[in-house]
Amino acid sequence: MTAPLIDPFARAIDYLRVSVTDRCDFRCVYCMSENMTFLPKKELLTLEELDRLTSAFVRMGVRKLRITGGEPLVRKGILTFFRAMSRHLDTGALKELTLTTNGSQLTRFADELAALGVRRINVSLDTLDPDKFARITRWGRLNQVLEGLEAAKSVGLKVKINAVALKGFNEDELFPLLDWCAEEGHDLTFIEVMPMGEDMSPLRLDQYWPLKDLRARLATRFTLTDLTERTGGPARYVRVEETGQKVGFITPLTHNFCESCNRVRLTCTGELFMCLGQEDMADLRTPLRASADDSVVEQAIRAAIARKPKGHDFDYSRQRADGQVSRHMSHTGG
Ligand code: SAM
Ligand code: SF4
Repeated sequence: MTAPLIDPFARAIDYLRVSVTDRCDFRCVYCMSENMTFLPKKELLTLEELDRLTSAFVRMGVRKLRITGGEPLVRKGILTFFRAMSRHLDTGALKELTLTTNGSQLTRFADELAALGVRRINVSLDTLDPDKFARITRWGRLNQVLEGLEAAKSVGLKVKINAVALKGFNEDELFPLLDWCAEEGHDLTFIEVMPMGEDMSPLRLDQYWPLKDLRARLATRFTLTDLTERTGGPARYVRVEETGQKVGFITPLTHNFCESCNRVRLTCTGELFMCLGQEDMADLRTPLRASADDSVVEQAIRAAIARKPKGHDFDYSRQRADGQVSRHMSHTGG
């Protein structure tokens, strides 16, 4: 173990999100354009390089690792990487290994993921209507995801459903989604749509369903109790007293969560984003490839953390998507 990672605002960085690919088998409208140009393969870190880099973070105090994308389960050989990370669970260096997935490949991978020590997964699902699902994901099939969720459940993986709250799209499914999650035993978190990707600000403003409105609608039917539990991220939780369910709200636009931020994001090309909502990043691929000596890349990681900004600048309050970031969500993995 080397000294832990502490940023200029005295925040300990112990959570790393790794986007292992920019590719995906879906084309969700708020995430990707239909005709995405993906990175050439040579730009990508190999699985061995991803292992080396991620392991450096674990030595420097990262305790929680979330694998994301693009769709992480479409990266060729991805189980090799999970296997490599699972050795850090075995030594106790890593407390949690998890992933965020669209669920399409879970029938293939759920049992091996569970065997490698994954306990909880986040699955993104905005609607339970097959036609709406096809519309929002462009290329996805709801049934495939539902089968994936069954597979996850059958091997004991705890599932949290992430639903992007979209005005005029899934407003009418608020209670059906909640009921379905209660029946299936899944937690549920709503996400506010964020101004990522190409400039689609008129569309985004249009679709923006503030979670304070969503929460108020929930409260017309249920008693909601705020939970103090925080994860260091933008999620806040309530308990639905009538059902005992935990419901989360990820509100980067209406709430400032930056003061307790404990995370950084690594892309599949070795860029480290110190803040989801800022353009600044550090290239870790160059130092990684420059030397087989890990102290070189460790130094680059420390220098990057020393630049972690205080917070992001997303702001819809002036009826414009201010603070917009031009990269796609699939680049940093959300
Ligand atoms: N493909 C995986 C999935 O969909 O779960 C992992 C990557 S995806 C980029 C991670 C999360 O980002 C998903 O829950 C997705 O709904 C969310 N997301 C993508 N674009 C978004 C946007 N513009 N605003 C808010 N959330 C977004
Ligand atoms: Fe793919 Fe996830 Fe983006 Fe949808 S949100 S296009 S599933 S990366």
